Amino acid sequence: MKIQEVLQKSYDYAIKYTDKGVAANYIPELAKEDKHRAGGAIISKEGELYEVGSARYKFSIQSIIKIVIYLCVLENYDFDYIKKFIGVKPSSKAFNSIIELELSNKQIPVNPFINAGAIVACSLLMEKYGNNTFDMIINRAREVIEDDKLDFSRSIYSSESSSAFANRALTYMLLNNEIIDREINVEDLLNTYFKSCSILVDAVDLSRLSFILSRNGKDIENKQVIDPDHACIIRTLMATCGTYDYSGDFAIRIGLPAKSGVGGGIVTASKAGYGIGVYCPGLDSHGNSYVGTRMLESISKELKLNIY
Ligand code: GLU
Repeated sequence: MKIQEVLQKSYDYAIKYTDKGVAANYIPELAKEDKHRAGGAIISKEGELYEVGSARYKFSIQSIIKIVIYLCVLENYDFDYIKKFIGVKPSSKAFNSIIELELSNKQIPVNPFINAGAIVACSLLMEKYGNNTFDMIINRAREVIEDDKLDFSRSIYSSESSSAFANRALTYMLLNNEIIDREINVEDLLNTYFKSCSILVDAVDLSRLSFILSRNGKDIENKQVIDPDHACIIRTLMATCGTYDYSGDFAIRIGLPAKSGVGGGIVTASKAGYGIGVYCPGLDSHGNSYVGTRMLESISKELKLNIY
């Protein structure tokens, strides 16, 4: 089957399930998204782009930016040092769970792809970059997504900031336990994190990020955009932690490393060399796009991408 047909088939199959998902409502601005809007993009091994549905619709990247934030941390600190502050274990509770943090070994976040882990990652970056940290993150996102016009949504950022009760609770716990340096200003730290989550992307952008991660950090022109060791660590964490406490089910169902966000995007990484990104804002109970997961199930089956 040709790639365009694979993509169309996945869309036709998954779009029947739009009623099953619920747009994230703990961030009021995200609750306004149309859960019947879906799209996807695949870049073939040869670098050809294929699109279906609303592949150019811009939505907030949310948790998918945690890939870029952690990449920046890897680029600035030694891996063993980072593990003193952020673990590499799968999570068994929701992405904003307080009890998981409370019970974790040495009270460090279990991994960088849940909220507490990404907030600590931002704090490590702030120790080096201070109030330029967000600029550093978005500039690195522009490089790895290969879109120098990436910007963030002011309305989603302020909506998230005014409703971030759980993230504030997590941050104060991290400060209390001295996982975050007490010199760091909490509001500056949270603003860095919220702005990062509010960066606008579309499914085509996600397919470009996926393409680079899947090719060990090389873009279509064979330029090394991400260090291969870092790309490997990120793919591994995507496989084990990328879809929160659904990661085990996701591995069985789809068989691909992936990172989701509550904006409705999912980016994958496939050693077969494809770039794949999907979008639909209706989420399952774990915070993963319901329709997006089903699209990937179909794509993985048709292109025989299951790595297990
Ligand atoms: N900005 C979201 C939050 O902090 C990200 C959550 C997600 O996509 O998992 O709650």
